[in-house]
Amino acid sequence: MSPVQLESPPDRGELHDLDELSFDNRFTASLPADPEISARRRQVEGAAFSRVMPTPTAAPTTLCWSSEVAALLGLDAAVCAGADFADVFSGNRVPQRADPFAMCYGGHQFGNWAGQLGDGRAIALGEVIDAAGGHQMLQLKGAGPTPYSRGADGRAVLRSSVREFLCSEAMFHLGVPTTRALSLVATGDAVVRDMLYDGHPAPEPGAVVCRVAPSFVRFGNFQLPGSRHDTALLRALVEYSIERDFPSIWSDVTRPSFEAKVIAWFNVVVESTARLVVDWMRVGFVHGVLNTDNMSILGLTIDYGPYGWLESFDPGWTPNTTDAQMRRYRYGAQPSVVGWNVAQLANALAPLLDGTDELQAALDGYGAAYGHRFCSMMAERFGWGPYRESDDELISEFFSLLSATETDYLIFCRQLALVPIDPSGALDDETLVAPLLDAYYQPEELVGEVLVRTVAWLRRWSARVVEGGLSDDSERRRRMDAVNPRFVLRNWLAQEVIDAAEAGDPAPIAELLDVLRRPYDEQPGREHFALRRPDWARQRVGCSMLSCSS
Ligand code: AMP
Ligand code: MG
Repeated sequence: MSPVQLESPPDRGELHDLDELSFDNRFTASLPADPEISARRRQVEGAAFSRVMPTPTAAPTTLCWSSEVAALLGLDAAVCAGADFADVFSGNRVPQRADPFAMCYGGHQFGNWAGQLGDGRAIALGEVIDAAGGHQMLQLKGAGPTPYSRGADGRAVLRSSVREFLCSEAMFHLGVPTTRALSLVATGDAVVRDMLYDGHPAPEPGAVVCRVAPSFVRFGNFQLPGSRHDTALLRALVEYSIERDFPSIWSDVTRPSFEAKVIAWFNVVVESTARLVVDWMRVGFVHGVLNTDNMSILGLTIDYGPYGWLESFDPGWTPNTTDAQMRRYRYGAQPSVVGWNVAQLANALAPLLDGTDELQAALDGYGAAYGHRFCSMMAERFGWGPYRESDDELISEFFSLLSATETDYLIFCRQLALVPIDPSGALDDETLVAPLLDAYYQPEELVGEVLVRTVAWLRRWSARVVEGGLSDDSERRRRMDAVNPRFVLRNWLAQEVIDAAEAGDPAPIAELLDVLRRPYDEQPGREHFALRRPDWARQRVGCSMLSCSS
């Protein structure tokens, strides 16, 4: 695995006016539309989307934008800093040639079929051609009611919008597939939320994030027409998705039939989804709400809600208090619940095929695809070179050790590169464990059996590094560092900038974003951003506890 590393790109914006955005609205031009144009809440059948206008807000102000996404869209800094940018990306002004709409989809929520969900507060402006000639959909999250808002207001609060904006970009820089975020705009309107669902609703500042991705199609887009036995719409959506987002499969003459293309496409979805989950496990990300409507057909991380980052290693941890009882979406369950989600997609596709053997075979490949990638990732992370089956015992002892005393997952992994390789066994225990001490929440517990096991593991790890042949220490460290990030969006870091933004100072958002731009580099002077969770954050709402209220 080689995470994509990007320097902040040069400002190569060309557009000076947002009305010059080159819209090419393939989704709305190709797929069946709901004939009604309004936000009246309703069941929408036989249509992939509903046209709906964003609802204007009181006083839009841009709090932050991503210069990388702006460059991708050809927008220069002057455009992003202008008043029209805040107007357009809050939904107050719809640019020329945009065709605003909300998508219609369903989903399984926490294991139960929930029927029609749809974009209840996200309104897409349309698709624009990016600097590389690809299509990017621009979607405003929090832009007001749609036919899919059910009982809710179509809005989003500042705290959840800061979290979505920053995490989208942090994930991109980590090399984890994700939807992107162009902008974070405060609306000037208050939004009432009962943050912990405990009977204390209160007004909070509202915001809109402009999310950007080649496609926002979810597993649930296919499931809804599947559940309604609307095979015509299901087929139209599948054809659309393959033709537009997987053109090499669509034009593959060795697979001339529609059925063969569906199978090839589903295999790619299985593979990219498995790869995504390995990335989450690598960087310690817990999505929090892995419902099938939150599963991207492109294998992107999508819908940042009550997500969190593992700090002390605990496979049973979920940041989502709404899931505190079942812990369905806990860190360690992500590979299997995503497998279940992929199976729901397969169920939805089955009516398009004569037989299901090939679909089942592709689905069965999920476990192996995940397992192979996970093992290779672990071998890379440890500086071993290619994985061998005999590594399994050492890998499982590693996880067992992390649970033996409260250990920060990512600090341990990152610092391991600094543990000296000691093939002759000459170094004493203290010297071996010294680089790891920052990873322990209770360093005094690193004694007795825990210390003995840790040192024994380090010696075996070291011997395996030698066997793996990566004998040049600096090259080995470089490779390990490229897999084990120094900087992730720890929950308490996000909360610090949310507190500042809610108090009227948005500047820390951009400062944190700048740190997260180079997650694999040491950044002298910014060590604060790589510290383990401070004590104040242990029980603080927003750090260790988040509900779906957003
Ligand atoms: P999520 O769990 O955020 O993926 O949301 C699940 C469903 O609820 C989606 O259909 C969302 O569009 C919808 N939803 C969430 N929050 C709101 C809101 N404030 N207003 C309208 N719809 C919402
Ligand atoms: Mg969602």
